[in-house]
Amino acid sequence: MEKYLSQLNEAQLAPTLQKNGPMIVIAGAGSGKTRVLTYRIAYLMSQGVDPFNILSLTFTNKAAREMKGRIADIVGQSEAKNLWMGTFHSVFAKILRIEADRLGYPSNFTIYDTQDSDRLISSIIKEMGLDKDIYKYKQVRSRISSYKNSLITVKAYYNNPEIMEADAAARRPKMGEIYREYVERCFKAGAMDFDDLLLKTNELLTRFPDVLAKYQDRFRYILVDEYQDTNHSQYLIVRALSDRFQNICVVGDDAQSIYAFRGANINNILNFQRDYDNVKVFRLEQNYRSTKNIVNAANSVIDKNQTKLDKVVWTANDEGGKIKVHRSMTDGDEGRFVASTIWETKMNEQLNNSDFAVLYRTNAQSRAIEDALRKRDIPYRIYGGLSFYQRKEIKDVLSYLRVIINPSDEEALKRIINYPARGIGQTTMDKLIVAASAYDRPIFDVLRDIENLNVNINGGTKTKLRNFVTMVESFQVMNQNANAFELAEHVVKVTGIVKDLNKDGTPEGVAKMENIEELLNGIGDFVEGQKEIADSTASLAEFLEDVALATDLDADKGNPDHVALMTIHLAKGLEFPHVFIVGMEEDLFPSAMSMNTRSELEEERRLFYVALTRAEKQAYLTYTVSRYRWGKLIDAEPSRFIEEIDEEFVDNITPIQEQRFNPMLDSSIFGDIEPNKIRFAKPKTPQKFQKKTLKKKAENFEIKAPKKMTAVSKAVPVENSLSASKLSVGNIVNHQRFGRGEVLQIEGKGADSKAEIKFSNGDTKKLLLRFAKLEIL
Ligand code: ATP
Ligand code: MG
Repeated sequence: MEKYLSQLNEAQLAPTLQKNGPMIVIAGAGSGKTRVLTYRIAYLMSQGVDPFNILSLTFTNKAAREMKGRIADIVGQSEAKNLWMGTFHSVFAKILRIEADRLGYPSNFTIYDTQDSDRLISSIIKEMGLDKDIYKYKQVRSRISSYKNSLITVKAYYNNPEIMEADAAARRPKMGEIYREYVERCFKAGAMDFDDLLLKTNELLTRFPDVLAKYQDRFRYILVDEYQDTNHSQYLIVRALSDRFQNICVVGDDAQSIYAFRGANINNILNFQRDYDNVKVFRLEQNYRSTKNIVNAANSVIDKNQTKLDKVVWTANDEGGKIKVHRSMTDGDEGRFVASTIWETKMNEQLNNSDFAVLYRTNAQSRAIEDALRKRDIPYRIYGGLSFYQRKEIKDVLSYLRVIINPSDEEALKRIINYPARGIGQTTMDKLIVAASAYDRPIFDVLRDIENLNVNINGGTKTKLRNFVTMVESFQVMNQNANAFELAEHVVKVTGIVKDLNKDGTPEGVAKMENIEELLNGIGDFVEGQKEIADSTASLAEFLEDVALATDLDADKGNPDHVALMTIHLAKGLEFPHVFIVGMEEDLFPSAMSMNTRSELEEERRLFYVALTRAEKQAYLTYTVSRYRWGKLIDAEPSRFIEEIDEEFVDNITPIQEQRFNPMLDSSIFGDIEPNKIRFAKPKTPQKFQKKTLKKKAENFEIKAPKKMTAVSKAVPVENSLSASKLSVGNIVNHQRFGRGEVLQIEGKGADSKAEIKFSNGDTKKLLLRFAKLEIL
């Protein structure tokens, strides 16, 4: 342990070694807050604290895994396994499953993702005959979410005239009714949405003192990362659980609070000292992540905020390059600048793709960047788009699995009852919904009992419904003996999904089939991996829970050496050597929607601070003169945030010619020519250039377009199934999801051969080679 403690500075050591009592570490970006949490957990364990008694809450499951891996390096794998670690949602979903019956929920409750919630809300709006232009389902959902995060139940809603009036004033007087129906429908479906996972946990801990006592006793040490972005519901859970032992350690940075729009309450961090007695406050000042230029530039920006705690951040790191600011004509140009700079820097400095990240304010901005990266064959990955598990074909298969586990799951049932088509139309479905409501039973119950109930459905359709029920019931029987992989494979075949996707032979169908194969591989991996996990219980149910709570950061699919593309919100806590912050324009960043009040603008500025402080070595800020937004080319103005950086830390790298050229030079004509190289051109009036002339000119400057442009950047192909004979102990391999690892052992023969692999995150897993997508490095 001493060896590891020497990897901390004095200021970091103090909170790490502070064993008991409430404490808060408030410190700027990159100062080692997350590192302190990690080492503190290892230290507690070395002091004899049982890992079962430690609860650590992180912002992403990925962060939890990385922390666990690091702790395993220090204290050993077997002990680290027993830590309770994860996001609020994943940890409390586990607890809710254990205690579900207290709340009248089945322990196999489904977790509705945002898509499921949206569909249910849309359907309720339609059933209630409301105007869908006034009751926009996304707005209704976010409103319901905000009630839940403030612990306003349906009952509390009707007791709160202020909220009701606010909804009425927003022309949505029926909000309460929608809310009530939504809550009842979820309950009847045995489903909780994301917000319920926190709301119901609060309910559990308040209504059942014995349950509270049990978890207070279990979680004697509680640690929370990114505390500045906890919402009210999360705050109350932490308070309740830590009330008995008061061993609560939170770390955060008020300057990085960026989730107010989702209910995060910055006061949780500002008031921490009021909430507990004898709070020890620790401050860290030294940044280990970034160069002097980056740290100072970020400081000069955040200084402009009025609401903030005073903090010092400095670094002993190199001065580094100044923040490079680049102006492009259009978003297409901006994409090409990013791609060419990545390409050149990679070559010049011998870097990997994963040394680069492109951050943006809104998801829509990724398209232009993607196009440019693809043209240069630079592998990239978009984080936070539609996640793998939300793709239609995947969701369809998952919905079958969900219905097998929880037949009351209404949203899943609605997806599959007529997919693949079996002649059960929307009219039938509407009748079933009405019947379910009249009999106050879940739809699947109505289906099971359809002969005895008064439902106006004809004989032919009833037969179809009966066949469907029989099929689902046969899956349920199989689920009792088969493992999740066997069951899923069976379902995909028997239901006709494979046939449906293969029938037209279109590339889309093939791609969907490949995705389903990938899902099956994932389930196979899971079944294997599960054997290793100490607190693993039900197989298929557990897989579905993992899937429901997987944030997009968690699923590390595809080529691990990729450029990361994500929104700034998602980048919190992460770091990359080279960071591009694109779309630095007024109305985009700061967002047009967030400039009405000082506090909104300050949140945007904090967001910029977060973005800038992700960079270790070099930060680029790019903006354009005009940009396509909402289908139109609009004029753009540079973001005020660029101006706000102290100019001694900024370097304008826009080539002079870029400014004289006009958008004619854009995409359609110059294609892939790197803007930097055009610098030596002496352009005539560009408007008069014909495409041909430009091409010719390009040749004269010896600019060669890449010979072949592939439309899709392919990840490095990996072996689908690797036979044991190709693999030997000691091989270094790459796994699509788990990353690099070393083969420790190989057992079994043929189809059953397995390899035990220690991955770089510290986890050791046994994988069935038949399924594991491994690549020998
Ligand atoms: P953020 O506010 O962005 O979440 P943070 O305060 O959590 O940042 P960390 O991510 O823990 O900061 O640390 C930033 C980087 O500095 C990491 O790469 C970490 O390993 C490194 N680091 C932190 N402390 C030290 C130290 N004492 N010696 C060497 N490296 C350190
Ligand atoms: Mg951190």
